[in-house]
Amino acid sequence: MTANPAEECRFRGLAVSRGISTGEIQFKDRHFEEPRRWAIQPEHLESEEARFQEAIFKTRTTIQALKKQLLDRGGDHSEAHIFDAHLLVLEDQTVIDEVLKQLRQEHANVDSVYYNVILRYIDSLKSIDDPYLRERAIDIEDVAGRLLANLSDDDSASASNETPHVIFAQDLAPSDTVGLDRSRLLGFATRLGSFTSHTAIMARSLGIPGVVGLEVPKGKLRAGQEVILDGFNGVLVVNPTEETRRKYERLSEQQAALNDRLDELRGEPAQTADGKSIILSGNIEFGHEVDAVKRRGAKGIGLYRTEFFYFERDRHPDEDQQAKAYGDVAESVDPDGVIIRTLDVGADKFYADDRQAEPNPFLGWRGIRVSLAETDAFKIQLRACLRASRRGKVRIMYPMISGIEELRQSNALLQECKEELRKEGLPFDENLEVGCMIELPSAAVMAHQLAPEVDFFSIGTNDLIQYTIAVDRINERVAHLYPPAHPSILRLIEMVVKAAHTHNIWVGVCGEMAGDPLFAPVMIGLGVDELSVGPSQILRVKHALRHLNSAECEDLVTELMKMQTVEEITERCRTLAKQRYGDFYQ
Ligand code: PEP
Ligand code: MG
Repeated sequence: MTANPAEECRFRGLAVSRGISTGEIQFKDRHFEEPRRWAIQPEHLESEEARFQEAIFKTRTTIQALKKQLLDRGGDHSEAHIFDAHLLVLEDQTVIDEVLKQLRQEHANVDSVYYNVILRYIDSLKSIDDPYLRERAIDIEDVAGRLLANLSDDDSASASNETPHVIFAQDLAPSDTVGLDRSRLLGFATRLGSFTSHTAIMARSLGIPGVVGLEVPKGKLRAGQEVILDGFNGVLVVNPTEETRRKYERLSEQQAALNDRLDELRGEPAQTADGKSIILSGNIEFGHEVDAVKRRGAKGIGLYRTEFFYFERDRHPDEDQQAKAYGDVAESVDPDGVIIRTLDVGADKFYADDRQAEPNPFLGWRGIRVSLAETDAFKIQLRACLRASRRGKVRIMYPMISGIEELRQSNALLQECKEELRKEGLPFDENLEVGCMIELPSAAVMAHQLAPEVDFFSIGTNDLIQYTIAVDRINERVAHLYPPAHPSILRLIEMVVKAAHTHNIWVGVCGEMAGDPLFAPVMIGLGVDELSVGPSQILRVKHALRHLNSAECEDLVTELMKMQTVEEITERCRTLAKQRYGDFYQ
């Protein structure tokens, strides 16, 4: 696809993952939305029919190309099968005949006729109480979205993924990102999102630049245009001039030099200048990210978000598949270990097959609530974790615990699983540690009661902040109101650490706040025992720790606790960061 000869233009957003990428832009949106409707004169009906046939042809070519790409990349045949199903939907003769018939009766544009015909099929499938058929409705929406985009001549539908590219989308759900060919991904640019949205987490974990909350008026971007994505300053530059290109090349070189310096820290311990050690581990979403964590010398995996593994396939993985995947990770990070977080679906992490709209998804069907309602699936995951513990150190962690009942119910199910495995003669680590995330204010407040029931806590600041301050973590309109340095958050973390230590259990932080070098002294000063951060942040955080003194961190926290505003707290942290590790903090 060729770039438009056009002037350079810039769009601003929120920088969420560092780095600079230059390449072509491609779209990831194929929204199944009602198209505009207009009348068609009888003499134009034939060309309208031809437009329809041409769009079917274009869509077929794209689907076939996608299938080939997947197989070429070594994808599994069962995944590629989905594209065969999409072709069947696309070429369903009943639908095509119906569209042609309606076109002649309604004398309306074929986009609108097709939309209405296919919508009836989708609605009837969705009304059937069978998850498999509901899933098929999503497939039909997917194909219909592609076809409608082709009818409206939207380049996104036929964009090829062959060349390295920056993805532009409204937002990227985990289920959108699993199918992406990561070897050609240069960056993520989205209209929605904030620092802790999953697009942002994913970009940081892949080590590619990410800019979210971009205000790009519709029609201003075309697939194939040359762009520079600046993940330091939150800018998307379209059609960069030679001068801009040179400026960014210089910036990339400077960054590469800094990264080389950071690399030298790989084998060094994560400790303050005066020798206070902290466990520094990595967060992963996919098993293969373990290498990125190990390469940077982190101590195991402090958060394995298993929902991504679920989305990677069209059917939920069974117990053997899960046991193998978790065991592979455990084995490769032994003896440091992996903390496997049980499924945290819902809210921004959709169930691929059940995207039912909820009025308040973050307050809805999410995390441990789903697992405790669907205990068969939960027990399969718990048994798989237990079985994996035979191959290396595994810890289990529950997400979104709101109080003691959920924790006790989860632990009771875990006991049941242990009993079953013992009877079946399947070995597992009898001393396996169990922890829970502290990411709801209710859990933080009740940490004293929760602590005796677990072996560790891991504070999930991404959710803790959104639920404490009532700021949706993926809504770019309120992203500026999402301050980690809010005095209430510092107090909640302090409470949780005290509760944990009183009960002799360790406490970590695995939310994005842990990976921000600005807050490294706060974490030390508050007495946190472990930090689990995205792979790209490991060495930056280690560098910060090694330039701090534990006494000054404690004094800092005493000072911060007397402050009332986010601004004062942030400014104080910034001053210390600049003094101690300014070159890497900028
Ligand atoms: C958190 O909430 O901080 C967390 C680590 O969990 P997630 O980002 O997956 O919701
Ligand atoms: Mg969370």
